[in-house]
Amino acid sequence: DSEYRARLVVLGGGGVGKTAIVKRFLFNTFCEKHQPTVEDLHYREFDLGTMTLKVDLLDTAGDLQFPAMRRLSIANAQAFLIVYSIEKSSSFDTMKQCFEEIREQREDFQEIPMMFVGNKSDLSPENREILKEDVAEWIFCDLPRLRTKLMECSAKDNVNIKELFKGFLQLAKIP
Ligand code: GDP
Repeated sequence: DSEYRARLVVLGGGGVGKTAIVKRFLFNTFCEKHQPTVEDLHYREFDLGTMTLKVDLLDTAGDLQFPAMRRLSIANAQAFLIVYSIEKSSSFDTMKQCFEEIREQREDFQEIPMMFVGNKSDLSPENREILKEDVAEWIFCDLPRLRTKLMECSAKDNVNIKELFKGFLQLAKIP
């Protein structure tokens, strides 16, 4: 059996729900409290039938502090999950900043699978500050790339969390 090992790095602003997405995916739990992360590395193996997928999932600090750590995590990633929160317009800017850092740092950035994720889709429409169409325009018009997907999800209500990681497999061309 073949195996494939990849490091998936989760980036995005503080409080957008990076840790919540990771915990929902790995442990199917959700916590209402916000506990700032410095860096958490999770390891998981998935039996895909034809191969074993080994994933290092790195949950990073939110507020773009720790620049040296972020540089290192960007340098060592095979794929990125870049998260914003639909109720916080500033998290769109942070996401753009994360993307720029990847572009500056990685010569192979066109090849890297990137999943852009709008979290907290469970919130009511009056709380929404970011339209999916606006993010789509930025992603697919301003920075056309091959290996990119955009999805909204809710770690709280467990909506689209599995799909998000499945989408990443498609981006990485893993069967
Ligand atoms: P991080 O700093 O990006 O890792 O954010 P956290 O995962 O710690 O989440 C920040 C806050 O947002 C916490 O209070 C979470 O309970 C809340 N949160 C996370 N995901 C969701 C979600 O899908 N919907 C809602 N309504 N709140 C969420």
